[in-house]
Amino acid sequence: MTDRHCKEIFAVLSEYLDAQLPAKNCRELERHLNGCRPCIAFLESLKTTVEACRKYRAPRPPALSKQVKAALLAAIQRSHRSEQGGRERPRENCFTGSTRSS
Ligand SMILES: [Zn+2]
Repeated sequence: MTDRHCKEIFAVLSEYLDAQLPAKNCRELERHLNGCRPCIAFLESLKTTVEACRKYRAPRPPALSKQVKAALLAAIQRSHRSEQGGRERPRENCFTGSTRSS
């Protein structure tokens, strides 16, 4: 599982969900998804978004634009990094600042 492969996966995931991918690509995608948790997580959130959009009968998911994708990508890359390296611990950025007031 490489990050580059993951990015390719992200690029085609929305087509995959719309069943627009050729069967061959689908299989590749699913094979990658089998071994890649971040991609599964991404797929799940994408699914949720798409389903929510379908509920409201939007022809295209309007919210799933650059901003959302970037946020999802960032989250996935973060989890990738922590899986691979494990050295970098998440900083307690929420708490370190607020508990200091004395
Ligand atoms: Zn992946």
